[in-house]
Amino acid sequence: MSGRVEDRRDEWEGPVPVPTGATVPFWEATLEGELLYQECDCGNRQLYPRAVCTACGAEDPPFAASEGVGTVYTYTVCHVPGEPGFADRTPYVVGAIDLAEGPRLLAVIDADPERLEIGAPVAVTFWRVSEDAAIPVFVPG
Ligand SMILES: [Zn+2]
Repeated sequence: MSGRVEDRRDEWEGPVPVPTGATVPFWEATLEGELLYQECDCGNRQLYPRAVCTACGAEDPPFAASEGVGTVYTYTVCHVPGEPGFADRTPYVVGAIDLAEGPRLLAVIDADPERLEIGAPVAVTFWRVSEDAAIPVFVPG
């Protein structure tokens, strides 16, 4: 399953990921609406990508494609008036998402914080923020 990719290059003023090393395949996939994680031969699954497996130390754990669905493990509502890139969406929500495949990642959750709950199902979508990267953003699913 692929997520939708919205082009936010003109309006995004937040941090822009710079693909390097182990994260290059990850960010390339985001441009196609694919969320990748690493699945090591030892069974460990991890996100974001790293050059080594955090469980066994193996180099360059292979990538696998996530279904892009998960649940909210925890979240926090950020009240940062004037923060570049979030001016029109204060407060915004950042959360830890447990993907169906197991890895947990931190991401923006594009949802009304009044209606968000721990354990709520979410699905990935992508905001393209540069030539090289689309950031994963989760929406209630
Ligand atoms: Zn491993």
